[in-house]
Amino acid sequence: MAISGIKTIIRAAGQYQNYHVEKISTNRFTHQAFINVLSDFEREEQLSFKDIGYSEEGRAIRSVTFGKGKTKVLLWSQMHGNESTATRAILDILKFLTANDELNSFREQIADKLTLQFIPMLNPDGTNRFQRRTATEIDMNRDAVELQTPEGRLLMDVIDDFKPGFALNLHDQRRFYNVKGTEVPSSMSFLAPAYNEGREVNTTRKKAMQLIAGMNQVLQNRITGGVGLYDDTYSFRSFGDAIQAKGISTILVESGWLANDMEKEGVRKLNFLALLSAFQMIAENSYTKFSVEDYINIPPIDTKLFDVLIKNVSIDDESDAKVDLGINRTEHLLEAPNYYSIGWLEDLGDLSAHYGFETVKEKGLKVIPGKSIVIDKLEVISMISVKRLLRQGVLFLITPDVPLEAHVPFPINLVHPRKLQEVQTIKFDSKANFLLVDNLNKIKFIILNGFLINPAKIDTSVNGLVLV
Ligand SMILES: [Zn+2]
Repeated sequence: MAISGIKTIIRAAGQYQNYHVEKISTNRFTHQAFINVLSDFEREEQLSFKDIGYSEEGRAIRSVTFGKGKTKVLLWSQMHGNESTATRAILDILKFLTANDELNSFREQIADKLTLQFIPMLNPDGTNRFQRRTATEIDMNRDAVELQTPEGRLLMDVIDDFKPGFALNLHDQRRFYNVKGTEVPSSMSFLAPAYNEGREVNTTRKKAMQLIAGMNQVLQNRITGGVGLYDDTYSFRSFGDAIQAKGISTILVESGWLANDMEKEGVRKLNFLALLSAFQMIAENSYTKFSVEDYINIPPIDTKLFDVLIKNVSIDDESDAKVDLGINRTEHLLEAPNYYSIGWLEDLGDLSAHYGFETVKEKGLKVIPGKSIVIDKLEVISMISVKRLLRQGVLFLITPDVPLEAHVPFPINLVHPRKLQEVQTIKFDSKANFLLVDNLNKIKFIILNGFLINPAKIDTSVNGLVLV
């Protein structure tokens, strides 16, 4: 007998490790690495593969189809090359769909009721650069009308040929999105895009809203309060809005962030659950039990999260003024899957409306500049000495002979002598390197390249910068 409803999804979640495709478990990977993993599934007779076309630079764009049911569901991911979480979740979904275990009746139900078509990497050129835009620097998601990108044209052709009933447009969002009025990151955000300026709700859009309300219910069991809604201002150039206007129930899914999940493996699992539950609700028609109100009642997203928020510190010996400091890091691609980070003091002042993935609330702390020492050779620096130097407050190693790289693969900065004074100055919109000390001048926290470091337990995996 079939296990019904949410229990199936809970069961699938419980044995997710059986479906997790480990070969790709980082944000950054190449098109070729992805194609290699996708090829592992070619022996599965339930799946059919097709090269639907080629990117601007000639990379194959593949689709995978499962099931023979009447209701067609199209899903595409990585239209933005640096948004890879759902691509990885689709690999897990494929593994789930082709597995052989006690959830077979659920698989059969999906295969009988639905035809699923996945396009799991629509922007392979952007993927290889880990950039949002295509090789021609076009934001594909603003190309739904002009169709100047080959990849956008392919998507529109598939939509017109396949004629899905439901379309899921899978993206990633930036790290600063919280659920409005809370410190909780919006780990999964959704939108049933508008199909006109009036943002009316017709049957097509209503179905999208109902399905989102259903996915929200499943996700709330995992991430209480961690689901948010995107603004539904009509954007006729965007695919979601354009496809909704064709009478296809369209859902924008944005993978957000969880704390301590830099490679987004936790969010990948949330995607897996959300997508499986969507398939189930469509197959069983059970999304219809949700209302438009259930959708509207999901709180909106906001942009109030910093990577690090430091509350109420003094930054000037001459004055009693207290400020909050907001720090964000950006990631920069090396050779995939590697990257380095740059941390910025992004805002300063009253940040009481903001939140942090990490927050320092200790009272009476003061910001002072990091110390520096002169070194002869970088090679003499061991990890033990890095830790010792950091505990002494040394954030900068001065050397006239700085390497060509932009970063240091461990937590210390290299700086050219002429740059030292500038990098030690603490100011808005500059790179974040300083110390937080108490009233006895004891170092309580170190900010090294935007990373919050507790001197008692130094994480040597974070990177510093070469400052020239
Ligand atoms: Zn996107």
